[in-house]
Amino acid sequence: MTQLETVHVPLGDRAYDVVIGEGLVANAGARIAPLLGKKKRVCVLTDERVAALHLETLRAGLAQSGIEMAALALPAGEATKCWAELSRAVEWLLTEKVERGDVVVAFGGGVIGDLGGFAAAILRRGVRFVQIPTTLLAQVDSSVGGKTGINAPHGKNLIGAFHQPSLVLADVSLLGSLSPRDYHSGYGEVVKYGLLGDAEFFDWLEANGAEAAAGDVAKRIHLVKRSVEMKAEIVARDETEQGDRALLNLGHTFCHALEAATGYSARLLHGEGVAIGCALAFELSARMGLCAQEDPSRVRAHLSQMGMKTDLSDIEGELPDADGLLDLMAQDKKVKDGQLRFILARGIGEAFVTSEVPKEQVRGVLIDALAAR
Ligand code: NAD
Repeated sequence: MTQLETVHVPLGDRAYDVVIGEGLVANAGARIAPLLGKKKRVCVLTDERVAALHLETLRAGLAQSGIEMAALALPAGEATKCWAELSRAVEWLLTEKVERGDVVVAFGGGVIGDLGGFAAAILRRGVRFVQIPTTLLAQVDSSVGGKTGINAPHGKNLIGAFHQPSLVLADVSLLGSLSPRDYHSGYGEVVKYGLLGDAEFFDWLEANGAEAAAGDVAKRIHLVKRSVEMKAEIVARDETEQGDRALLNLGHTFCHALEAATGYSARLLHGEGVAIGCALAFELSARMGLCAQEDPSRVRAHLSQMGMKTDLSDIEGELPDADGLLDLMAQDKKVKDGQLRFILARGIGEAFVTSEVPKEQVRGVLIDALAAR
C-alpha cells in the first residue's frame, strides 16, 4: 500500500475519519473490525455494477480479519434512490437480523451511499454505517457530511435524514474502473471546492487535473484529500445547513434546474450539471460586478481543458427557454421564503451566499447561454 491520508471530521460524538489511499478495500477488515462487537459480520449494500467489479475484493478484505459478509446488490443508477428499493434494502437488513449494535456498509457511488445511509438511519431507529465510496463524486462529496436519502416523485433528495457514517474508506484504486464520463462528473465537484474556497487548489487543479484524470495515484489522493478536507471543515461549522454549508451548493441552483429540464436522465449527470452551474454562477458574478471579468473564462477554460461539459451547448437535445429554467430554479429546495438563494463569488476561491440577486440578471445570463447553443 502506498501513501495513506486521514481527514478527521470533528463532529463531537458523531466524529469520524475519512481514510484515503490505495488498497483500502483489499484491507477493509482491519479498519472495520474495531467497530464491531463479538459478532464479526457486516451487511453490505451495493449496486450490481460495483458488485460485479469489486465485491469479491471486499469479501476477501473482510475475511482477512475474520469478518463475514452478506451483500445485497441493487440495480445501478439514480432510479434506485426510490421508496421501492429503500424498502427492499431495509427488509433485507431485517431478514439478515441486523441489530442496533451492528454495522451496515454502503459500497458504491452516491446512489448507494445516500440510500444505504438512509436505510441505516431508519433501521431500528438508527444503526451505524460505514461508507466505502466507489466513484470520485462519492469520495469527494456524498460519502462525507451525513446527508442521506432518496428521491420523491416531487423532486430529488426530498426524503432523507442527517446520519453521519462511523468511518469512510475512500480507496482511489476503485476509480480505475470508472468510465471517463463518471470520473469527469465527480471532477465537477472537485473543481467546485477550488472555486468556492481555495484559489490555490484551483491553481493546482489547472496544473495537475489532467494527470490525475489520466491515473496518477498520488495526484488522485491529493485531490480527494483536499476536497474532503474542505467539505469536512464546512460540515463541522454547519452540520445541518443553517448557514455556511450552503456554500457547497455553488453551481447547484443552475444545476438543479438543468437536471430537472433533462429529466434527471443520462443526458446530464449531476457533476456535469455542477460544472456548468459553476461556470454560470461565475458569469452571473462577473455581470453583477462582483468578480473580475476574466474569472468566468478561466473557469470555462479549465473545464474544457479537462474535456468536460462547460456550456449549455454541451447538453444534447432541447432545453426550456430562460423563463422555463427560471421556473425550475424557483422549485429548488434551496429556495427560502420564495427568494432564490445563490452562491456567487468575489473571485476564484471566494464564494458567498446571497438572496440579493435580481431575477433580470439571471434571466440575462440564461438568455445569452441559450443563444450560444
Ligand atoms: P452512482 O452511484 O449512480 O454511480 C455512477 C455509476 O458508476 C453507476 O452506474 C455505478 O454503478 C457506477 N460505479 C460506481 N463505482 C464504480 C466503479 N468503481 N467502477 C465502475 N463503475 C462504478 O452516482 P454518483 O455520481 O456516484 O452519485 C450521484 C448521487 O449522489 C446522486 O443521487 C446525488 O444526489 C448524490 N449526492 C449526494 C450528496 C450527499 O451529500 N449525500 C452529495 C452529492 C451527490
